[in-house]
Amino acid sequence: MLNKKRKGRLFIISAPSGAGKTTLCHAVLAKLSQIVPSISYTTRAPREGEVTGKDYHFVSPQKFKAMIEEHAFAEWAIVHGHYYGTNKNLIEKSMQEGNDVLLSIDIQGADQLRKLYSDAVSVFINPPSLKELKNRLIDRKSDSQMTIQKRLEVAKKEIAAAPSYQFQVVNDDFEQALEELISIIKSQRHPS
Ligand code: 5GP
Repeated sequence: MLNKKRKGRLFIISAPSGAGKTTLCHAVLAKLSQIVPSISYTTRAPREGEVTGKDYHFVSPQKFKAMIEEHAFAEWAIVHGHYYGTNKNLIEKSMQEGNDVLLSIDIQGADQLRKLYSDAVSVFINPPSLKELKNRLIDRKSDSQMTIQKRLEVAKKEIAAAPSYQFQVVNDDFEQALEELISIIKSQRHPS
């Protein structure tokens, strides 16, 4: 008999740093079933409290480059000076198992993934304004002033790419943004 198990779908979420994407993604994963995160590989150092295998697979540049050679990534990019990549086998296994996959990745990676998986759904999370974004980056106290400045420059380029996403959500009121994101996912996921 044919296995009629539902096949999962990819949900790509991008946003400028500080727009609240990580918190939104955690909340989506807590509220919905049959959706799992893609745990990316990165060469950046873990921030306080981050755990390898949970937040990211933290690896050396040598290991990351070896994985590029082995074609282990569905997409990879250099973001803020560090390598980040999505493991192809991990996301395909999750989809085969009937789970949707939530990918929190940058605009370069989103571009690559959309080419590889034409079925993927993409959502861009906008901050209410650049001024508000700056305040949030200052408030979270995890980056130096120079890093914040760099992140804001990158944010302008990222926001310019927002129209290439299928959906856009403004994260002004968190609960409302979460509700919008959840309803997008519910409306786009394959039926069971
Ligand atoms: P952070 O280091 O602040 O967690 O993430 C920095 C940026 O890298 C964010 O825009 C995040 O979405 C992006 N990112 C995280 N994982 C990946 C990935 O696997 N591929 C790509 N292209 N970007 C990623």
